[in-house]
Amino acid sequence: MRILIIEDERKLARALKRAFEQERYAVDISFDSDDGLMMAETQPYDAIIVDRMLPGNFNGIEIVKKLRKKNNTVPILLLTALGQTTDKTTGLDAGADDYLVKPFAIEELLARIRSLLRRTSSSASTSLSVGEITLDPTRLTVSHGDTPVTLTAKEFALLEYFLRNPNRILSKESIMSHVWDYDADILPNTVEAYVKQLRNKLDKPFGTKYIETIRGFGYKLIAEKAKSDAQ
Ligand code: CA
Repeated sequence: MRILIIEDERKLARALKRAFEQERYAVDISFDSDDGLMMAETQPYDAIIVDRMLPGNFNGIEIVKKLRKKNNTVPILLLTALGQTTDKTTGLDAGADDYLVKPFAIEELLARIRSLLRRTSSSASTSLSVGEITLDPTRLTVSHGDTPVTLTAKEFALLEYFLRNPNRILSKESIMSHVWDYDADILPNTVEAYVKQLRNKLDKPFGTKYIETIRGFGYKLIAEKAKSDAQ
């Protein structure tokens, strides 16, 4: 999952980036509204956190309005400073999905974003599973059947992206833009290397083939249907 944080308090923005990265998200930060809006419009984020008061040509609410006007449905959480709480309804009316009043505990923000992502994904449960593979985004655990599998942070993020898009052909470009952040120095063959590592940990030891290669394009995670056909 890749998120964008538009927040001009640099210390806070960096603390949030670190916290989200620990939870296996890819995170981009922007310190002003023009740059933030440009990133939000051009990159495929899974969620956006935007501060209400920002330097530049727009405030947070205007950013939300502009994105919604272009039919961008990305989940957005608006941050408001204490004393601006009357802006709550304005933010939600503009199209934000949630808001949080500063100061807040980072844990609270993490929980809100998790819940926004859950609302937009098809499954209501916290853990994601396809066939025998289960991933718990809150406890950061992965298992194949009853066997726990240890993954690195990026392998985990990659698997989460696959599990959120089962049976869909995912291009290497789409994988790169959802699993790695803007600054990451990454090439299509980096994706290949990570997919290989995932297979070595999740498929090979169990004799399964969940991750299918779509030649010259990308990959597909085979979900229940293919599995029940095989039984
Ligand atoms: Ca601000």
